[in-house]
Amino acid sequence: MSEIETMPQNASKRVFIKTYGCQMNVYDSDRMADALAPHGYMPTQEIGEADLVLLNTCHIREKASEKVFSELGRLKELQGEKRAAGGDMMIGVAGCVAQAEGEEIARRAPVVDLVFGPQAYHRLPDMLARAQSQRHMHPALKKAVIDTDFPEEDKFAHLPAARKEATIARGLTAFLTVQEGCDKFCSFCVVPYTRGAEVSRPVSQVLDEARRLVDAGVKEITLLGQNVNAYHGTDSAGRDIGLGELCYLLAEIPGLERLRYTTSHPRDMDDGLIAAHRDLPLLMPYLHLPVQSGSDRILKAMNRKHTAAEYLSLIERIKAARPDMALSGDFIVGFPGEADQDFEDTLTIIRETGYASAYSFKYSTRPGTPGANLGDQVPEEIKTERLYRLQELVNQQTTAFHASMVGKTLPVLVERVGRMPGQVGGRSPYLQAVHLEGATDLIGAIHQVEIIGTSTNSLVGRLVRSAAA
Ligand code: SAM
Ligand code: SF4
Repeated sequence: MSEIETMPQNASKRVFIKTYGCQMNVYDSDRMADALAPHGYMPTQEIGEADLVLLNTCHIREKASEKVFSELGRLKELQGEKRAAGGDMMIGVAGCVAQAEGEEIARRAPVVDLVFGPQAYHRLPDMLARAQSQRHMHPALKKAVIDTDFPEEDKFAHLPAARKEATIARGLTAFLTVQEGCDKFCSFCVVPYTRGAEVSRPVSQVLDEARRLVDAGVKEITLLGQNVNAYHGTDSAGRDIGLGELCYLLAEIPGLERLRYTTSHPRDMDDGLIAAHRDLPLLMPYLHLPVQSGSDRILKAMNRKHTAAEYLSLIERIKAARPDMALSGDFIVGFPGEADQDFEDTLTIIRETGYASAYSFKYSTRPGTPGANLGDQVPEEIKTERLYRLQELVNQQTTAFHASMVGKTLPVLVERVGRMPGQVGGRSPYLQAVHLEGATDLIGAIHQVEIIGTSTNSLVGRLVRSAAA
C-alpha cells in the first residue's frame, strides 16, 4: 500500500491548483482535485494555506514555459517563507508544458517535486506518495517524480466519480471531456504532440458522467475535446457513435436542459451533427468553429485540409439547419508567408461569416511543429497591426450581434448573483452574459428575459416570465 493510501481519510491538507489555458485544462484541474480528495486534500483558493500547489500549464503559444518558470520562482520564495515558519509546501507542474519539457523543468527548477502530463493525472496520488518519500532526502539526491508517458490505459476509467458536493460547488454548468488529443497536425499546433493521438471515451462512460452531473444539479453541460466533433465513441453494442448521435443520447437524460460542445474542426462537422442542431432544442445555437485564415494558400500551408469556400458553404448548411446559429472562431495572423492579400482574405471571410465572437492570435513558432521550419516569418510589427485590424472588425461584429438581441425575449439560465446588489446573472443560448434585476431564488432555472440593453461584454435584461410561472 502506498504511503498516501495510509493517510487518514479526514486529514485536512489543502491543494491550490492554478489553471492556465483552455477549458480542457479547467476540466483536468477539477479531476485532479477529485483524484486527491479521497486522500485528504481539499481545494483552496488561498495559495498561502496550501500544502500542495499544482500548476496546470498550457503550451499552445510561446512564453508559456517562461511564465511557468517565473511562477516557480515565486513559489520557491513562498515555500521558503512557509518552511521558516515551520510549515512546508509541495509543488507540481502538470499539463502540456510538463508534457513537452518534463526533464527540463526538473533540471531548471529543483523546487519542483512532481512533473506530469495530461495523461497521468489519475496517477497523481501515487506520484505524490513517491514525491513525499523524497522530501527528506539531501537536496543533491532528491529527484522530482516525472510522469509524461502516454499510457495505453484509459485515465478516465481510473478516476473517482466527481464528488456530488464538489459538483454542486462548481455550479449549474459543467464541462465533460469526451475526446482528447488530435490527429489533424495543423502545421502551427503543438496539441498532437502534447496531448497525443485522438482518443474518444466510450459512450456509456460519457452518459454515466453526464447523469451524475445532472443528479448533482447541473443543467448545462459543455462537451470538451481538442477536436470534439471528431468524437467517435463505441456504444455497448460495439457501434461507432459520432458526436451528433451522442448528442441525441444525452438529450434523453431527464433534467439536462442545455448542451454545448467545443472545439470543433470544420472537416469534422458532419451531416449527423448538423442534423442534431436541427432536431435538438437543448443543443445551443452557438458554435465555435475556427477557420484560422481566409486565404486558401495559407490554409494549405497550415494543413487545415479545407478551403475558404468550403468553410463558407459549411456555414450555409449549418444555418439552413439552425437559422439562428451564432458563430465564433479562432484566427491566426502572421503565419509564415502571409502576404497583405492573404490577410485581406481573412478579413473577407470574417465579413462574410459574421461572428458573434472570435479569438485571435499572432502566430508564434512552436518548436517541433512543421511551422517552425518555415522561412518567411512575418515581422512582429506587421503581426501587431494585422491583429489590431482583425480585432477591430470582430469587435464591431460582436457589438452588432449584442445589439440585435435588444427587444427579443430569450431563455436565460440564471446562474449567480449579479455584480450589483439586487441583480442576478446568467447566459443566453448564444453564450452571452445577461444581467437582470431579480431575487436570488431565480438562480438555478431558465427564465424568459427581455433584452433591454447592452454593455461592453454583456446584455441587460428584464424578467418577463420566471420558470416557476
Ligand atoms: N482544435 C481547434 C481547431 O482546430 O481550431 C483549436 C485548438 S487550439 C488549442 C486553440 C487555438 O490556438 C487555435 O485555434 C489557434 O487559433 C491558436 N493557436 C494554436 N497554435 C498556435 C500558434 N502556434 N500560434 C498562434 N496561435 C495558435
Ligand atoms: Fe491543433 Fe486544432 Fe489543428 Fe488539432 S485541429 S492540430 S488541436 S489546431
